[in-house]
This record gives sequence, structure tokens and C-alpha cells, in this order.
Amino acid sequence: MGKITVVRRVVQVAMLVLFCLPPLLAGWGLAGLFAGGDGEVATPAEGVLFGSLSSSSVAGITLLDPLATLEAMAASRSLLTASVLVGALLVVLVYGLVRGRAFCAWVCPVNLIGEGVDAVRRRVGIAVPERTVDRRAKIAVAAAVVAASALVGFPVFEAVSPIGAVNKGLAFGGFAGAGTLVAIVIAELLVSRRVWCRALCPLGGVFQVLGRVGQVNVAIDHDACIHCDKCAEACLADPAILTPVLAGEDTIVRAGDCMACGACVDACPAAALRFRLGRPRGASRGKADSAPVAACPSSR
Ligand code: SF4
Ligand code: SF4
Repeated sequence: MGKITVVRRVVQVAMLVLFCLPPLLAGWGLAGLFAGGDGEVATPAEGVLFGSLSSSSVAGITLLDPLATLEAMAASRSLLTASVLVGALLVVLVYGLVRGRAFCAWVCPVNLIGEGVDAVRRRVGIAVPERTVDRRAKIAVAAAVVAASALVGFPVFEAVSPIGAVNKGLAFGGFAGAGTLVAIVIAELLVSRRVWCRALCPLGGVFQVLGRVGQVNVAIDHDACIHCDKCAEACLADPAILTPVLAGEDTIVRAGDCMACGACVDACPAAALRFRLGRPRGASRGKADSAPVAACPSSR
């Protein structure tokens, strides 16, 4: 495991622990189990941090992820309260400045599970297609989720979200979304590699759009590259997003889909890739996100 991946694992696990700690400190047991009667259980909502990875309260500031915010606005047909909007804008600003999908690689527990499933699949030799669904499908899924929320009057994805399911289940024993999680694991084992995170997750779709302005980017040293393609094989998002840099058309990975996971940097045997800050103007600006996805029959 490369250095960046080791750091990322520590952060992924730390984020899970961080969101599970408040109920534990408030006297709950894991999965919502506790000794004593209902009257003895303190509410973790009174602590500094409370909530899930979709919706939380940190030092009194409500933080909603961008999809949950859009769903809530569509469902209520209102702009929400000013304090909720400020918290939501804060989330958009931070991830917009860094890399939208950095959330997926560094924070989201579903990605952690997906990487685990991928590792198991490879170890036991289950071969599935690398890519079967256009990665831009998740933007359409996000739009459909917001439209459906407006139609039915409640945030539909939040009801079945696998993202909240992991830490809500661990902390509170609430398992809404667990069915989605099981479906994702089955699809990734039997249908297509990382199909949920790459192509279907609506939150990933919103972060993909935000990612087009992120300032943390993978840069290539074209002189050092030996064209072994190990970076593309390692890419968590989609091997195709590295095509412009590997073809010498660009110096950074611009696609909004890049998760800044660092798997490509770790995998490169020639040290030709590194993270850099800023987005230099490039000849292929925008192409990475608009290029059609070619059929890719490879499997690993
Ligand atoms: S291009 Fe590199 S940093 Fe971006 S998602 Fe792929 S492997 Fe991760
Ligand atoms: S892994 Fe490194 S050397 Fe190999 S193709 Fe990618 S950038 Fe070039």
C-alpha cells in the first residue's frame, strides 16, 4: 500500500470514529445499544459534534452535504433557514476549493467498503468489467433525485442513502440504507468494478460538478513518464480521466471526477505524478469531462 493510501485509510477510519464517538460519549453503546432505561440516556445532540456524514451539527453550525441541501430545498420548496444555508455553503466552499470528490475518497465510508470489496474480488479472482456505465450518469441521477424530492415532498435519497447508513448504523443502530449498501456490494462483486462510486452515486455526481474547479490536482512530468499505464489501472474514479495527461495533451488531471485519492501517484513506478495546487490553463481544458466514455472490456 502506497504512502498516500495509508494516510487516506487513517483519515477514512478516523472520520467514521469521529461520527460514532458522540453517541458513545453520551452513554450509548455501539449500534444504539445502551445499559439502563430510556430515561437515563443522554442526547448526543447536545455535544460539539453530532450527526452523520450527510447532515451534522458542528459547534452549533448545521452542515448539510450539497445533495441533501438541494433535496431539502426541493422537498420544502423553500430556501431553508439562513443558518442552514450558510452551513451548506461552507461545505460547498471547502470541497469546491479542494476537490469535490475528495469527499468520496477521503471521507465517505461507502468508498472504503467499495475498495474493500474490490480487493476481495481481486483476491478471489472474480472478474467483472472495468466500466459499464458512463460516469456522468451520476449527475443525471442527482438531478432525478432532486426532482423526485420536489414531487413527493421529502428528500428521497436520504431515506435510502448508503452513506449515512454506515455511520448511523454503527452509532445508533439505524439501518435505513443498509439495503442499498447490500445492493452496491453485490453489484460491485458481480456486475461492474466500482459501479456505484464511479457512475451511480448522486452525491458523487454533485461533487463531480464541483470538482471542475478544485485546486488540488494530480500533475504529470511528461519526461519522467514511461507509459506503463499503472496509474490508469489504479485509478479509483475512472481510468479515462488520466487519458489527457498520459497522451501529453495536458499537465494536470482536470476531470471533476478525480477524487484526489492519490492511488495513481502511489502506483507510478517512475515518480512522474504528484499533487500540485492550482489549475494552469490547458489545451484540453474541459475535454476530460466531456469526452465520451469508450467501451472498456478489461477486467482485473
Ligand atoms: S486520477 Fe489519480 S487521484 Fe484522481 S481519482 Fe484517479 S487515481 Fe485518484
Ligand atoms: S504510472 Fe507513471 S510512468 Fe506509468 S503511465 Fe502513469 S504516469 Fe506514466
